[in-house]
Amino acid sequence: MSEVIDWHARAKGLSIEGRAFIGGRYLPALSGATFDCLNPATGRSLGAIAACEQADVDVAVARARATFEAGHWSRMAPRERKKRLLAFGDLMERHIEELALLETLDMGKPIRDSLAVDLPLSIQCIRWYAEAIDKVYDEIAPTAASAISLIRREPLGVVAAVVPWNFPLLMAAWKLGPILAAGNSVVLKPAEQSSLTAIRIAALSAEAGIPDGVFNVVPGLGEAAGRALGLHMDVDAVAFTGSTEVGKLFLQYSGQSNMKRVGLECGGKTPNIILADAPDLDAAATAAAWGIYYNQGEVCNAGSRMIVEASVKDQVVEKVMAVGKAMKQGDPLDPATELGAMVDATQTERVMRYIEQGQTEGATLRLGGKRVQSEGCFIEPTLFDDVTSRMIIAQEEIFGPVLATITAKDLDEAIRIGNDTKYGLAAAVWTRDINKAFKASSALRAGVVWVNCFDHGDISSPFGGFKQSGFGRDKSLHALEKYTELKATWINLAS
Ligand code: NAD
Repeated sequence: MSEVIDWHARAKGLSIEGRAFIGGRYLPALSGATFDCLNPATGRSLGAIAACEQADVDVAVARARATFEAGHWSRMAPRERKKRLLAFGDLMERHIEELALLETLDMGKPIRDSLAVDLPLSIQCIRWYAEAIDKVYDEIAPTAASAISLIRREPLGVVAAVVPWNFPLLMAAWKLGPILAAGNSVVLKPAEQSSLTAIRIAALSAEAGIPDGVFNVVPGLGEAAGRALGLHMDVDAVAFTGSTEVGKLFLQYSGQSNMKRVGLECGGKTPNIILADAPDLDAAATAAAWGIYYNQGEVCNAGSRMIVEASVKDQVVEKVMAVGKAMKQGDPLDPATELGAMVDATQTERVMRYIEQGQTEGATLRLGGKRVQSEGCFIEPTLFDDVTSRMIIAQEEIFGPVLATITAKDLDEAIRIGNDTKYGLAAAVWTRDINKAFKASSALRAGVVWVNCFDHGDISSPFGGFKQSGFGRDKSLHALEKYTELKATWINLAS
């Protein structure tokens, strides 16, 4: 029988590392400044995090650059990089419970999700790129016989990874896997709300034999450490996941500095279209509920707009509400908890303002809408009906457990509403008609379209946005394109 873990007891014995990791060592910020790391479920401090700024970023980038130029990692045989990245994945697995606990304490998600979703997917991601990198071949162009053109992918150099707080480790892993496999050095800046797992895995990377200076972590505030990386003249690329607003700033930073490459994985307002001929309406409604309430709605591709064909709308709404009501909300360290705490007080207040906004705009609040009375940051699963596409709650990314239900008369109207957004990260359609499914998947402007499911995926399948959800892809071999330069070597052959 598997051991029942007392997560509260484990949390008491946990040691929290909050320093930066630069050149293979943990270091305080040069200024000595720190900020508090708060547990959103209790409001209590978990420890102090180094508040890195420009000066720390300068040191980290210089170390990353020196290691890159020395070739310890960048020119290491791909098979050897693979070996060490696999060792890194193994160490993460050995520390899976500790890392899951850090993730849950830091950002409030249920421990069952950290343990069953975030950690296994992060480990799988590191292993997948490790396994891939010694199987990726370069090309020879079909030139005339008088020359050979070798087309090779070279690592970029120093890549900054700036990531959000909703899936702190997984979003970092989606960057780290391909960045490191391709031979780059990396400076990772976690979100200030969720620095702990990034800081912890840095030591594991060193233990796995990844050379000092290859993998650096600079925790700190966005406007300080994030901005310094964006504007740095010696950073070759930024791999960003976060809001569209900050994504746009990174484009500006690039233009103001060295034209560094920028990959952007930004916000979303995913339409989940449920047609009357869905193969199983109950399954569609259940998936719709999980698609918005999972991770407290703090998911970039959350199905925040449910667009339902009129004839089945009431039936679907009833079922979604029943699933939402049945979800167990509360202490993230309780393994039975399905809905944890919002990441912090600021995000909680932001979501509550949107709930008020929905009521002011005339949408019908059918479920939830309130803060759960506790010391922490909890919001009930919430459902609005009678939403129209132009309402603010149908347009802006709420990033909380708030579903907007919009009624459509047929597929064409559903597609029009689905595309009526500045975002284009993901979309879904439920129908048993292959023609309708294909029509919708072609017409919906989104990086991924799910048919008869929601939020399915695999590390082998690319993920990323159209429109203001960004550009460039995480996951799959396509991610390597963001972290490599294409070089043609033209060899003239003597005749
Ligand atoms: P955010 O944009 O506020 O922060 C993201 C990162 O940018 C953090 O590390 C933050 O410190 C940094 N940052 C903030 N201000 C900055 C500035 N002025 N200059 C430089 N860096 C700065 O996003 P968030 O609130 O942490 O995360 C939520 C957002 O992330 C949502 O919009 C969500 O949709 C998006 N997201 C997208 C994906 C995707 O794959 N497309 C995945 C997860 C989350």
